[in-house]
Amino acid sequence: MRASYINPRSGAIWPADRALWRAPDDDGLLGLTPGRGLAREEIERSDPSLWRYRAAIRVGYGGRVSLGEGFTPLVETDWEGRRLLFKCEQLMPTGSFKDRGTTVMMSHLKEAGVEALLEDSSGNAGASIAAYAAAAGIRARIMVPESAPAAKRVQIAAAGAGLQEVAGDRDAVERAALAAAEELFYASHNRQPFFLEGTKTLAFELWEQLDFRAPAAVAAPCGNGANILGLYMGFRELQAAGQIEALPRLHAVQAANNSPIRTLFDGWTAPQGPTVADGIATARPIRGQAVVDAVRATGGSVPVASEEAILGALGRLARSGSFLEPTSAVAVAALPQIPDEDLVLVLTGSGLKALDIHAGLLTTSKS
Ligand SMILES: *Cc1c(COP(=O)(O)O)cnc(C)c1O
Repeated sequence: MRASYINPRSGAIWPADRALWRAPDDDGLLGLTPGRGLAREEIERSDPSLWRYRAAIRVGYGGRVSLGEGFTPLVETDWEGRRLLFKCEQLMPTGSFKDRGTTVMMSHLKEAGVEALLEDSSGNAGASIAAYAAAAGIRARIMVPESAPAAKRVQIAAAGAGLQEVAGDRDAVERAALAAAEELFYASHNRQPFFLEGTKTLAFELWEQLDFRAPAAVAAPCGNGANILGLYMGFRELQAAGQIEALPRLHAVQAANNSPIRTLFDGWTAPQGPTVADGIATARPIRGQAVVDAVRATGGSVPVASEEAILGALGRLARSGSFLEPTSAVAVAALPQIPDEDLVLVLTGSGLKALDIHAGLLTTSKS
């Protein structure tokens, strides 16, 4: 089954055999027509990557661009007196969950004949796209904020991508990318809908790893919403295919200092400022309304965590053996606001991306 692009506002449809990042009729955001999900018998069990769900991933498998991503461990944890499941997405090839979306998006772009591309990122998506573009033989130019962590900038350049550091915040970087998109294919992971076609496999994995049931709830740090939207799409496909009865409640967790999704959700506001959770520091999430709709449809919530709570959780996670980047600690920091049992927490990025912050925590705790 092939996907088609759809403009959800106009209802117009285009074949997905070409590379598009915006709707040809009104320049708005594109989605894909709904997938059909999959049955457990269709899983390619000999493949220890997310491509085991290839029956439900709508790009040609023959031309896939893969570094062995997905099928990450789901680990039962006794976290400060609560039984939780940690989904260890920090163990992906480039050290963040972004590889889940990138492998599918890059496979699609390669299939569509893209030879050079442009991406803008707070760091991890850029590092992921740089690596997969290198694997695909596609030239990549990656724009990041000057403030992006050094590890992420080095990772991008090391893969051979053209790294361009842009002055200003995350939104200034996006504006610069939109201007450059006149010359180079804009492979924005937040706009190109095949990225979500990849992140939806997170739902399939949780379903398989829980012996073919959906958890009661899933919490993930949320900036632009690739995890939350992917989970929603994947679980909806499973529900439509008769594989699960109810959707899990989806909790989209934000840093209080950068909480536009929360404001869209229920009007709550806090003074906005810098956050140590650099991976979710976007002030204008472009699919924000879709994220809020997904959270509402599942009975979920949008908790927020203070900077102090995020750094506290980061240190406690490290001292319990989970070495993560600060963005990854946001959902753990908000746990008191998420009382659900049978809760999966998505850990999204590796601590190796944020050595300076961990070093800083050690110095503070010594003094
Ligand atoms: C990108 C990122 C997120 C947030 O993902 P969104 O798709 O923007 O919601 C969370 N954690 C890490 C480590 C990331 O790199």
